[in-house]
Amino acid sequence: MKAIRVHEFGGPDVLKLEEVPHPSASPGQVVVGVKAIGVNPVDTYIRAGTYAFKPSLPYIPGMDAAGVVEEVGQGVTRVKEGDRVYVAGSLTGTYAAKTVCAETQVYRLPAKIHFAQGAAVNVPYATAYRAIFQIGEARAGEIVFVHGASGGVGVAAVQLARAAGMMVIGTAGTSKGRELALREGAHHVLDHTAAGYLEQLRSLTGGRGADIIIEMLANVNLGKDLPLLAARGRVVVVGNRGTVEINARDIMGKDGSIRGMSLLVAPADDLAGIHAAIYAGLENGTLRPVVGQEMPLAEAVRAHKAVMEPGAHGKIVLLP
Ligand code: NAP
Repeated sequence: MKAIRVHEFGGPDVLKLEEVPHPSASPGQVVVGVKAIGVNPVDTYIRAGTYAFKPSLPYIPGMDAAGVVEEVGQGVTRVKEGDRVYVAGSLTGTYAAKTVCAETQVYRLPAKIHFAQGAAVNVPYATAYRAIFQIGEARAGEIVFVHGASGGVGVAAVQLARAAGMMVIGTAGTSKGRELALREGAHHVLDHTAAGYLEQLRSLTGGRGADIIIEMLANVNLGKDLPLLAARGRVVVVGNRGTVEINARDIMGKDGSIRGMSLLVAPADDLAGIHAAIYAGLENGTLRPVVGQEMPLAEAVRAHKAVMEPGAHGKIVLLP
């Protein structure tokens, strides 16, 4: 079967399309015939060899995909051959025609969600859900500022927060991204490339500030986020690509907090809750994964360059 493999850590060009043996399912495992693959920024950090988790070489990248169950190993009860699923992690990597998952990494995909959308579910929606509800402890009626609302996690955060009864303010760097955030449920949208855009947040909230800030680029924004928090406000750091200076006084006087999160360390119980909520949202139509660009698997190099460029509008998905 066709797969992308990495033989050495480095730039996007280390992604090579190769022929590899067909996998099979050991006990407790599931082989999924992959129909679409989600490309996440973390795939590029791992490929570069700069991430905390370093797979042994060579490896097939990717933790998100959607497809059809082709084989189940002994003892598997959660899914059966022919089921439509999305995967939340994989034992063998998802940038391939087939992927092997532990039974616990496979979730049913509602019929109304097509495979490309299914590939856009796991990391974006699980991260956004965990950031808003489990780490941010958001409640209906609160004001949520999604600082970076045009990409995978941002769009998911906007839909989740809107459906849960929050007032949602998002940002994007392009008019296409801002239109997307508005269409997907933001009440207001700001341009994070415009001078003074954070002053607009203050006035949109009547001077109160945001209860929760879901931050996609903390190294650029964290210092500016803190003064924007309402009393007992929380910044949840989802994305960060460097260091940042903050003034802790900006949170002291209002009992504010900065909370970090990594989906990769979420406990199993929390993940079960996350995916149950995602399934419900996909089924009832409040969650609608947005695919911005589809590319053939052979163009994984281009996908890895694109996912790190500004101008996000939904997810980048590879088709095997
Ligand atoms: P993505 O689809 O590439 O989207 C990136 C987002 O960041 C876009 O909305 C982009 O907006 C926005 N952005 C760019 N410059 C910004 C700025 N100055 N201020 C605010 N936002 C800005 O990536 P993603 O999948 O949504 O992931 C977002 C970040 O979260 C990445 O750094 C990723 O590594 C991280 N992440 C972390 C976890 C975790 O467990 N902690 C999980 C998933 C993702 P424009 O393109 O419109 O400028």
